[in-house]
Amino acid sequence: MELIESYLINNPCYQANLKQADSRYTGFQARGPLGLMLHSVGCAQPKASVFVNGWNKPGYDRACVHAFIDAGSGAVYQTLPWHYRGWHCGGSGNNTHLGVELCESGAIRYTGSNRFEILNRTKALADAKRSYDAAVELFAFLCGKYDLDPMTAILSHKEGHAAGIASDHGDPEHYWSGLDTGYTMDGFRAEVKAKLEAAASAPSEDDPAPQPSPGQNDAADLPFPDVDPNDWYAAALRWAVEQRIVQPSAAPFRPEAPLTKAAAVVWLRRLYHAFCER
Ligand SMILES: [Zn+2]
Repeated sequence: MELIESYLINNPCYQANLKQADSRYTGFQARGPLGLMLHSVGCAQPKASVFVNGWNKPGYDRACVHAFIDAGSGAVYQTLPWHYRGWHCGGSGNNTHLGVELCESGAIRYTGSNRFEILNRTKALADAKRSYDAAVELFAFLCGKYDLDPMTAILSHKEGHAAGIASDHGDPEHYWSGLDTGYTMDGFRAEVKAKLEAAASAPSEDDPAPQPSPGQNDAADLPFPDVDPNDWYAAALRWAVEQRIVQPSAAPFRPEAPLTKAAAVVWLRRLYHAFCER
């Protein structure tokens, strides 16, 4: 799973989380998600980056989700920390569920709400499969992270509406059925469950989380060519790399170089997210 961190820090929803605007935000942040809701964007836009750029604005107060899955690459663009409260389903489900959007193929053209014509079936099906497969992986990862049962914790936006916790939308089922993909939410849940069980039986193979290395003072696995495992700060640096505060790099670490204000705030922000997403 390719995960690209692209937090929508300018979106008012992100800001409400940052300020812990009320108990809905603090409650979600303390507890983490109790469920996962799958959406699709409802327009023929395969590029996650288009949504990331369009929604990362102070004036964009309509919605905010936790991730977009790019239809062209299957990459997951994470747009909120997983334990933040999103604005994705227009109902009380925002208090309990995190929301993930499948981007939809550019090889369709909408003719009405939930209705589209297919311009290139082969391409549209390949795009739908790419985002579906990535969503299975992502949801398995999130079910593992938050100890959720895929069979009960996963809903579509459409199912959320039927359950009375989301606005009246038909996604993503309208997208899958409009393309005649054969995908269903029951099938999706079953595939997530199978993925989760496979990951549990082979944790080192399939776990997308970084693996902390054993050995408190063993810095031999540090990626920087100019850091000696015996340097006085080596253990601390290894910790910072494991926490993803300092990016691993084959380039020199340059331990004697001065720290810029720019690097300081970036490291502080990564520290905040490393700590708060536990
Ligand atoms: Zn939706």
